Amino acid sequence: MSRPSFPAKLPAQAKGQSSAPKKVAAPAIKQGSAALKPLKKATSSLPAASHGLGLDSQAMRRRMVDKLAAQGISDSAVLQALGHIERHRFVDTALVGQAYEDTSLPIGLGQTISKPNVVARMMELLRQGQGKGLDSRGRMGRVLEIGTGCGYQAALLAQLCTEVYSIERLRGLHDKARENLRPFAIAHLHLLLGDGMLGYAKGAPYAGIIAAAGGEAIPQAWVDQLAVGGRIVAPMATASGSQALVVLDKTQQGVTQTVLEPVHFVPLKSGVM
Ligand code: SAH
Repeated sequence: MSRPSFPAKLPAQAKGQSSAPKKVAAPAIKQGSAALKPLKKATSSLPAASHGLGLDSQAMRRRMVDKLAAQGISDSAVLQALGHIERHRFVDTALVGQAYEDTSLPIGLGQTISKPNVVARMMELLRQGQGKGLDSRGRMGRVLEIGTGCGYQAALLAQLCTEVYSIERLRGLHDKARENLRPFAIAHLHLLLGDGMLGYAKGAPYAGIIAAAGGEAIPQAWVDQLAVGGRIVAPMATASGSQALVVLDKTQQGVTQTVLEPVHFVPLKSGVM
């Protein structure tokens, strides 16, 4: 099967490159469509932050969204968000060629950005937990994300929620996310440097809490900071030592926890570095 294609040369001024441009291997992707224009032409009027994919990235996102829908993601708001936010702006220049494949990618400091399919699945689960809690525009209320990483999921959440708090424990990634998200200028997205295991009490109560790192259990602080009627979606260690996606719902009657499919997330760690 031919893979999605785009021009193989990256612009010299792509974001993240300073005075000495890094040598970047041309993405080994075959040209499958005659409709693609030479990169120079396609990107000449785009800001440097187009990050090398130029005008073709929209088509690639559409293909990614079609695949996600075929894989069973059915929440149109989630699919729309994934079609809108440019994932290639959040990965290093050398990985831009893989930005729209359904694969997790390294984002530095030993961390990874999750596969689009997993990101979509978790946001779909988060929204399904809201019952009648969505506003007239179908958005969730205030949401807390644990593990900002490169900021990609935070940008997606900002499309789906009225207010997003995203917390990261690694300063290097917190700063990177801040830089990645600057061009989006999202006023209702708040990036925080801190230990997400403690949640973020000042923003509570949350309609939803979503974690991109998995621990032994769901921290009690998250449950405490979750609104009644809210939902937590997080990876968690299972008895067999692997990891599964867990959904926790908080109701007037108490808390229910449902263990879903196996996943592979980076570990949830305490402390700030
Ligand atoms: N949602 C991110 C995924 C990042 S990977 C994205 O779209 O890029 C998970 C992140 O969780 C890592 O950056 C890791 O440093 C962070 N993390 C792990 N434990 C944490 C904690 N206790 N508090 C905040 N962030 C944490």
